[in-house]
Amino acid sequence: FGSLLFKSFGGSKKKGAAGPAKEPKAISVEDAYMILEAAKNVVFVPGYGMAVAQAQHAVKELCDKLEENGAEVNFAIHPVAGRMPGHMNVLLAEANVPYEQLKTADEMNPQMSNVDVAIVIGANDVVNPDAIHDESSPLYGMPIVNAHEARTVFVLKRGKGTGFSGVENPLFTNDNTVMIYGDAKATVSALVSEFNDQ
Ligand code: NDP
Repeated sequence: FGSLLFKSFGGSKKKGAAGPAKEPKAISVEDAYMILEAAKNVVFVPGYGMAVAQAQHAVKELCDKLEENGAEVNFAIHPVAGRMPGHMNVLLAEANVPYEQLKTADEMNPQMSNVDVAIVIGANDVVNPDAIHDESSPLYGMPIVNAHEARTVFVLKRGKGTGFSGVENPLFTNDNTVMIYGDAKATVSALVSEFNDQ
């Protein structure tokens, strides 16, 4: 994966798409809870934003709530998620997420179409489908976590910030994607509170 880490970004930003840009759909924490409460198979996809927000302990709490509610929960860890090798594993281990739940992208991708909700937490480049579909993308050819194949995708991020590569991410405007804007720790904690209030 060295080539992924040190690939130089900053070439052409993105193909100049014609026509009006599609806008991402945002939902509230309350509506997100209704979807999560019904989910039987959930995958967390953490990225750099989880580290910035220091959301790992709240994520472990939400993981526990989902399991208590009868869901199977896994984590899909991309090898270059975050800003250093093993970044996500270190944070999630610190939060006592069991090692068996930390799956590689290779392990999780074949199962992604059976996942009810993929919760993307501050990840961006490592879930960018242009890496598969768009030859003009600087990310083209990089293996990704195929979060877009889940039935519903939650994306937790603060706003319209790009990731390390600086490129746009079409995942955010997919029909099966909803954005939950805000700091990742605040959003995950609010989802935990929704479970506690029931
Ligand atoms: P990205 O850097 O692609 O994206 C991180 C996202 O997190 C941003 O889009 C940002 O959006 C969001 N974010 C930032 N702060 C918060 C917050 N407090 N709460 C919620 N969201 C937040 O991360 P990925 O992990 O997906 O990808 C890693 C990238 O770093 C790859 O391009 C990889 O090649 C590169 N890299 C990795 C290294 C490694 O060893 N792991 C080393 C060097 C580079 P917003 O601003 O809208 O919140």
